[in-house]
Amino acid sequence: GAAAVPQAPEDPLFGLMAAYRRDTDARKVDLGIGAYRDNNAKPWILPVVKRADDILRNDPDLNHEYLPIAGLAEFTTASQKLVLGGNSPAIQEKRVTSLQTISGTGAVHLGALFLAKFYNKGSDRLAYFSDPTWANHFQIFSNVGLPYKTYPYFSHKTKGLDFDGMVSTIQDAPEGSIILLHACAHNPTGVDPTQDQWKKIAEVIRAKKHFPFFDTAYQGFASGDLARDGWAIRYFIEQGFELCIAQSYAKNFGLYGERAGCFHFVTSPSSDAESTVKRVASQLAILQRSEISNPPAYGARIASTVLNDPKLFAEWEANLREMSGRIKEMRTALRSKLEELGTPGTWNHITDQIGMFSFTGLTEQQVLKIREDAHVYMTKNGRISMAGLNTNNVEYFAKAVDKVVRE
Ligand code: PMP
Repeated sequence: GAAAVPQAPEDPLFGLMAAYRRDTDARKVDLGIGAYRDNNAKPWILPVVKRADDILRNDPDLNHEYLPIAGLAEFTTASQKLVLGGNSPAIQEKRVTSLQTISGTGAVHLGALFLAKFYNKGSDRLAYFSDPTWANHFQIFSNVGLPYKTYPYFSHKTKGLDFDGMVSTIQDAPEGSIILLHACAHNPTGVDPTQDQWKKIAEVIRAKKHFPFFDTAYQGFASGDLARDGWAIRYFIEQGFELCIAQSYAKNFGLYGERAGCFHFVTSPSSDAESTVKRVASQLAILQRSEISNPPAYGARIASTVLNDPKLFAEWEANLREMSGRIKEMRTALRSKLEELGTPGTWNHITDQIGMFSFTGLTEQQVLKIREDAHVYMTKNGRISMAGLNTNNVEYFAKAVDKVVRE
């Protein structure tokens, strides 16, 4: 009976959020969860999302009927263009199939489930994740029965990319492995390959006939430029890879709780491509039906309203620049405060890293000490959410870091 069910550990991130909420100290700072905050540490509803929300609320024809199994077609079509680029050969040649999912998590899950069921059946399969990666990758892949290993990614010495380690491990991986890649703004490190490094990574993946699986949760949020943040995926498509993409709208639209996301499967150019994609789509539809029947409507409607209207789209881009711009300002401010204080160590990685997160290099012991002494909450691996910093607390945080590093 259920009496035999063992206690599972609490999710570390959501546990951290709960501890922050319980803390009654007025100085407390939340650098844990990966959600954007404005300069007053408040959640920010993107103005363009508010506008789309108003449009939807005033639409007399809007109802609460089921969406199709693959989701809202205007949304999935616009999502393809967003991630692959409007003139993508893959779209023109009908080599892409897309399903709306429960945000990025659901897209990663649907992709993993599909691969578990159909990819290289009958042979030993192995997925490779960056070390470190978004912790949920491990759970999602193990829940569908796909074994995994990791490839080196973060160099503790340079606090940048361990490019040689990454490439040589991907090179040595068994042929046909699934290689999970963060398209931009790597979580948790904030470290991305350069375009030249991406080209080399693509070369090795091709040589070993690996299958690239892109996780894109921060397009536009990282650099403020959608094409730039989508560059790696578009390059792989240009190179003719068969691949899949898990796309999230949580961060770049601030639609966290609405769970808007999309899964894309792209096959290589061939005379057979269109029919391959049709068969893949038919199987994905069955998986989706058994998992969620059909995806939630509201978040996808909001994103779709914006993505399909040129004026709203331009306004969204401005909102993205505002979020990424504030985060970049906080990177500069934190680095210069630490350098002003003469805090031991180098701090250039704070501004070299990109996106929501920075891997500070603080040890678990230092993280716990800062939590206890200064009421600053960050994950044990020393990751901070840059969005939790603002002009009111960045100096306070820098001083707390300075203190613990000197102890
Ligand atoms: N992948 C990565 C790398 C992420 O950082 C996130 C967000 N934390 C996700 C996927 C998916 O998040 P969500 O399900 O909220 O879209």
